[in-house]
Amino acid sequence: MKVDVRELEDDRAFLLIEDVDPSFVNALRRTLMADVPKMAIEDVEFHLGPIRGEDGKEYESVAPLFDEIIAHRLSLIPVPTDLDLFVRREECENCGGEGCTNCTLIYSLNKKGPGTVFSGDLHPIGDSKFAPIDPNIPIVKLGEGQAMLTYATAVLGSGRDHAKWQAAQAASYKYYPVLDFDPKDSGLGEEIANVCPVNILEAGEEFRVTDIEKCTLCKLCEEKSEGRIKVRGDAAKFLFNFETDRSLTARQALLKGLEILDVKFREFANSLTTLK
Ligand SMILES: [Zn+2]
Repeated sequence: MKVDVRELEDDRAFLLIEDVDPSFVNALRRTLMADVPKMAIEDVEFHLGPIRGEDGKEYESVAPLFDEIIAHRLSLIPVPTDLDLFVRREECENCGGEGCTNCTLIYSLNKKGPGTVFSGDLHPIGDSKFAPIDPNIPIVKLGEGQAMLTYATAVLGSGRDHAKWQAAQAASYKYYPVLDFDPKDSGLGEEIANVCPVNILEAGEEFRVTDIEKCTLCKLCEEKSEGRIKVRGDAAKFLFNFETDRSLTARQALLKGLEILDVKFREFANSLTTLK
């Protein structure tokens, strides 16, 4: 397998993967979305009863939304994940699942209305590097005299359990496009070049493709040219794309995904050797 990293940013990756078959790239796609773990808020504890402000004013601990909806919104906020540090709570040997710094992240939220509660109002208890990545996600609008005092606990999980733990989004691939034609074919003119929705065909002395990777394999040029152009996808070469919510960088998600696949294939191979 050959991987050419075309673009790699914190929140997205674009790769060219060669010498593999479709089942492998699909396994990678599924692993990135379902198996690569990340931290997300799982438990939310709401303070009930009056809340007293620093100014002595009394606030009611109510918000215009049901607690369940607020908890759901909190759970979807991307929180930084350190995969070298965190383990799943149920597998934590340090605390036996009780919750400790190896398996849980606790946030406090103390906001008084009127005003909007944002993701940036979630403050990690302990290391400030675990503050939500985007501080500007609105959660709920508090009215005059309303307040929210909440503790939220984030744990490690994967997309297989719930979408809030999905480390990679929009993971997809396409077969590498191949256009077969004779560049000197006089039957290939402007009219055929113009049919391309992504504008990658150029007619002239020689007919040519300007950027083959933009081809969507729509086959409009094949149809229009009555088969002078043959469009196909290379089944051993793929353009692979995915994004992350920045809980993990694209690089971290990809490395973890490949590591998980490696373990799975090993386990599969081992269990095959025990077959009689
Ligand atoms: Zn623990």
